[in-house]
Amino acid sequence: MRLVILGPQGAGKGTQAEYLADKYGIPHIATGDMFRWAIRQGDELGRAVKDYVEAGRLVPDELTIRVVSERLDADDAASGWILDGFPRNLAQAEGLERLMRSKGRELDRALVIDVPEDVSLRRTLGRRVCENCGATYHEDRPPRNDWVCDRCGGRVVARSDDSEATVRERLRTYHEQTEPLKDYYRERGRLLEVDGTASPEEVFERIVAGL
Ligand code: ADP
Ligand code: ZN
Repeated sequence: MRLVILGPQGAGKGTQAEYLADKYGIPHIATGDMFRWAIRQGDELGRAVKDYVEAGRLVPDELTIRVVSERLDADDAASGWILDGFPRNLAQAEGLERLMRSKGRELDRALVIDVPEDVSLRRTLGRRVCENCGATYHEDRPPRNDWVCDRCGGRVVARSDDSEATVRERLRTYHEQTEPLKDYYRERGRLLEVDGTASPEEVFERIVAGL
């Protein structure tokens, strides 16, 4: 299974991607997580993307496509993957199409999880993530022990790019550049749209039924 997941901030892409990765035994590849990890490491990639990520702007396409291409070449991605947060604009969608062609592969589905703006803001501004493994929580749904990750024991914190101004900027970019990809994938007969306002379990059921 080769799947991309699109949706506005706070739609639950990461959560659903984790469920799908478990169910199908394929890696969950989130460009945002890769960039945040690189920033924490302070490596070359991290230095290149830091200013963009912190301002809520897109990292340049060429660099992003290169990072994704290298990740998809890893052994664990040989039999499938779930891409979360990529592609985010037409140039990236076309880049992915070219990558697939050069590897003799095809994208199975583009999953769009939709939520209205108020839900998006509420979820994103209350969001907390594990610094270590990326598991997500919410102010209203914290881990069992005071901000210690249930899964790995890492520290659970607010993302530095989840301030209101940055979230609004990312939402603007989403509507302007990412949302048009719905038409792109619809025209190619790959689109699966799911309402993301229900509970995570319910949304997951609908996705699995749709796939
Ligand atoms: P969200 O979906 O909540 O905005 P992500 O973790 O997907 O969060 O992305 C965080 C940041 O990482 C983005 O605001 C952007 O700066 C950068 N980023 C992630 N994926 C991409 C991408 N495909 N192209 C360009 N920049 C990206
Ligand atoms: Zn964790």
